[in-house]
This record gives sequence, C-alpha cells and structure tokens, in this order.
Amino acid sequence: MTIVELDGSVGEGGGQILRTALSLSMCTGVPLRIERIRAKRPKPGLMRQHLSCVQAAQAISGAAVSGAELGSQSLAFCPGEVRAGHYRFAVGTAGSCTLVLQAVLPALMQAEGISRVELSGGTHNPMAPPFHFIERSFIPLLRRMGVGVDASLRRHGFYPAGGGEIDVAICPPADGLRAFDLLERGEPRDLYAESLIPALPRRVAMLELQALADAFGWGPEQLRVPAVRQNEGPGNALMVTLAHAHVTEVFTSFGEKSLSAEQVAARVIAEVRAYQGACAAVGPHLADQLALPLALAVHRQGTSAAYTCSEMTEHARTNLAVIQEFLSVRGEFHRCESGWRVNISAHQR
Ligand code: AMP
Repeated sequence: MTIVELDGSVGEGGGQILRTALSLSMCTGVPLRIERIRAKRPKPGLMRQHLSCVQAAQAISGAAVSGAELGSQSLAFCPGEVRAGHYRFAVGTAGSCTLVLQAVLPALMQAEGISRVELSGGTHNPMAPPFHFIERSFIPLLRRMGVGVDASLRRHGFYPAGGGEIDVAICPPADGLRAFDLLERGEPRDLYAESLIPALPRRVAMLELQALADAFGWGPEQLRVPAVRQNEGPGNALMVTLAHAHVTEVFTSFGEKSLSAEQVAARVIAEVRAYQGACAAVGPHLADQLALPLALAVHRQGTSAAYTCSEMTEHARTNLAVIQEFLSVRGEFHRCESGWRVNISAHQR
C-alpha cells in the first residue's frame, strides 16, 4: 500500500507541513506518517491547535490515527472516505480556528455533497490567517475554481481569550475544481484600513489609522473603525485591505501590550509597502495558501497554472514540496519582473 512519509523538520519545519499533509492525505486517500512534527518551533510537536486539526481531519474522514496527543512529534493518519456533513470544531482557548478550517476545507470542497462547518476559537490570531483574510482574499479564489463557499463571522476571537465563532458553508463544484492563472492583480478598486478594537480605547485605533493615512496619503473615507461588541475583546487587529480587479489582499498586524499604536501600524505598513513595491498578483501568505487548491485543480485536470507573488517564503517553498509528495504535479518557481512566478503543472508519476 502506498504511504507518504514526511519529515516535519524540513524547510520551515512548522505546522503548515502537518496541515497540508492532512489535507492531501484526505483528498487522495493516501495514508500519511509524519515524524519530527514542528521540529523547528520553540515548542515542537502537536500543540492544542494542531491536535484540533488532526481531530477535525479524523472526524470528516473517519481516519485511523495514532500519535494524536499533545506534544507528540509523530503521527500516523490513515483516512477513510471524506464525508460531507455538518461539523462543529472547538479549538479551545484562542487556538486559531481558521487554521483548522485550512486543514479540512480542501477535502470538504471535493466531497460528495454540501457541508457546513462551525468553528470556535481564535478568529484573529498572530501567525494564522485572520478571518477577514479568508473571507476577502482566499475564498474568492476558491470560488474562481468553482467551489461555492460562504463564511460568516459570528463572533470575534482574539488571543488570549479566544471565544470567536465562524460558520462556513461549502458546496463542491459539480464538475471538479478548475485551475486558473493569476499573473496580475489588476487595477486598484478599493483600498482601506480598519482597526478592530473591542474593549480597548478608541483613540488607539485613531492613532493607528492616522499612521496609515500619513504613510499612504489616504483620506478619512479609507479609515474605518468597524463596530465590534465590547465583550469580544480585549483585542486589536489592524487590517489593510487592497482590493484590485483580479485579487484582494488583506494585510494584518496585531496589537500587543508592549507595542505602541505607531509600532502596530509600522508593521502592517512594511508589509503593504513590500507588496506595493512589487507588481505581482499576490502577497506572501496568499502565495503559500493558493498553492494547494490550485495544485488539486491542476492534478485533476492534467493541466497547468501559474501565479505571481511578491515574495517566495520558506513557507511557500515547503508547502510546494509537501504537495508534490501527494499529487502528480510539479511546482516550480523563479524570479520574474513582478517578483516571483510559481508554475504548477501536471506530470505522470
Ligand atoms: P504555520 O506557521 O506553519 O503554522 O502556518 C501559518 C499559516 O498561517 C500559513 O498558511 C500562513 O500563510 C498563514 N498566515 C500567517 N500569518 C498570516 C497573515 N497575517 N495573513 C494571512 N495568513 C497568514
């Protein structure tokens, strides 16, 4: 029997290797064994949030699993058939629920039937896709592949309190995933910044937004403080949304006790400038997250697809390497005029 064996310490050596492997093990039905999980992180092995990903993957695929314990650095995962359905996953504490979604979404968007996934935990966590990134950046690209996806945010969840809630409806495409090229971002349509700041002084938001206005020359209509229920805090996420004709990017920085409003703003300004400085279609996070669904589409269709990105992170490189362990695709990347170009093409094993 074919099995994919992975070393979780290679490349960026973090949780992404585990999530991508779980997703693709379910999508292909190929069992997985992974050793040295998250070996390059300060606390290696399965943390609560990674364990939640494994448990969620087990719930949707009826997998036989061993090694699914806190701190475990090795895992064996043998998936059964992925079952569409209504699932509820509670990550506990403020573990990111968008990362659990990231693990189960690829399998559910190829399942036989419609699913609904309700998740609770953190919705706006450092080192994870914030809900608004999933909603505005990632989901529209899945729709372009033919997947019906709708996500709603019922309640914000910030580190460390958590308690956020997300509800996602997933309708697989009737005729399979469709690959597409994404080489240009297109002309700007709507550029704006929002400071989410429940249970913290509004003046902090005003300082953050003013710093963005000064950096980008933006007017008051581009600076927003959305209404958020006070009992959803304390927390602070400063988000910059850049909607272009072909893609929307969301860059986020998070408030921390030790950081001034200006420092929080400076972090997101640096990310936006790096993206604006290139003219590639997508930024670094979308670049690593787009690879998996696009590779599934390419694998199914036996075609090829390409996208350009402003940066080719270790995350994205590692992700491409894991993808190639499961799917008959080749992922190549090289520098190009607009930044980097990633080509994913089908090949015979
Ligand atoms: P890991 O650090 O290996 O657990 O993976 C983190 C995941 O979160 C990757 O898919 C990143 O692309 C994603 N991620 C981290 N920060 C952000 C952000 N600010 N916006 C969007 N995605 C993010």
